[in-house]
Amino acid sequence: MERSAEPIHCRACGADGFENLGRIVHGEPTLVAGVPIDLHGVEFSLRRCKTCGFAFKHPPIPVEKLMECYAKSGAGNWGFDPDPYMRRLDQITQMISRHARGKRVLDIGCNNGAVLKAFGDEWEKFGVEPGREAAALARKRGVNVIGDTLQAIPPGQKFDVALAIDVVEHIEDPVPFFEKVRSCLSPGGVLAVITGDSRAPTARLMGSRYWYFCLTEHVSFYCRRAITGIAQRVGFETLEYHRISHRRSTLWQKVRCAVMNMAFLLAVKTHGLGLPVVQRATRRGAPGWITARDHMIYLARVV
Ligand SMILES: [Zn+2]
Repeated sequence: MERSAEPIHCRACGADGFENLGRIVHGEPTLVAGVPIDLHGVEFSLRRCKTCGFAFKHPPIPVEKLMECYAKSGAGNWGFDPDPYMRRLDQITQMISRHARGKRVLDIGCNNGAVLKAFGDEWEKFGVEPGREAAALARKRGVNVIGDTLQAIPPGQKFDVALAIDVVEHIEDPVPFFEKVRSCLSPGGVLAVITGDSRAPTARLMGSRYWYFCLTEHVSFYCRRAITGIAQRVGFETLEYHRISHRRSTLWQKVRCAVMNMAFLLAVKTHGLGLPVVQRATRRGAPGWITARDHMIYLARVV
């Protein structure tokens, strides 16, 4: 990868002025959607816009490189059949049903169709998905997969609901993405986003070493202010915002994640206690904290 120029304007709000929140260390081996990627020799950091709070990985990983990996990834990379209860699909579908004015749903990055399965048979289900294997399985599961990305949707084809679950953190340039989503929605259509919340207490505690920032394919990070600003800018009004954990978990899982992360943080702060074996461990990304309340569900309506 070539060195990339320093960012000048925020890709979310257009303002200038960023904070450098520190170095991001990717896991070893470096994978995107389970597919190896060569990022050798590039140092990444976490930047945040001082005006709107939108944060991002710098330098950006070229979109074409990421898309190549997504296309090759296996159909089960994000789970063949995630448990609908643990993944909160009951909560998500209920919330959407409260606001939706029609039954045509588009899942952006629909993977193998697992999320759309949670929507009842009364829904007309559409998706876009770059993963070839995942898209084939989604089709078998009754999803009308229109193409790889939103660009494949013909003008004039409209939906009542658009889902972007675990998607916008993969998008380098959020405003054109949200604009395109809006153009695919009917008047009064609803957008539902689930993504990380970079202002969550655990993310603030761990800083740039937080597990969510260290996942290679995550390039953009939102908070309530940033996502509300982007949505308003392209013509949405906010319906709901809630901070949630990505999935439901047991007390044991919660304790285990918290202890592992505290130990990691302590090791980083004490420079590995001077022990080479601990120092080596701190040079990798932080342990996962999948139980943390570090995501948001954000619903907005076309105005
Ligand atoms: Zn900004």
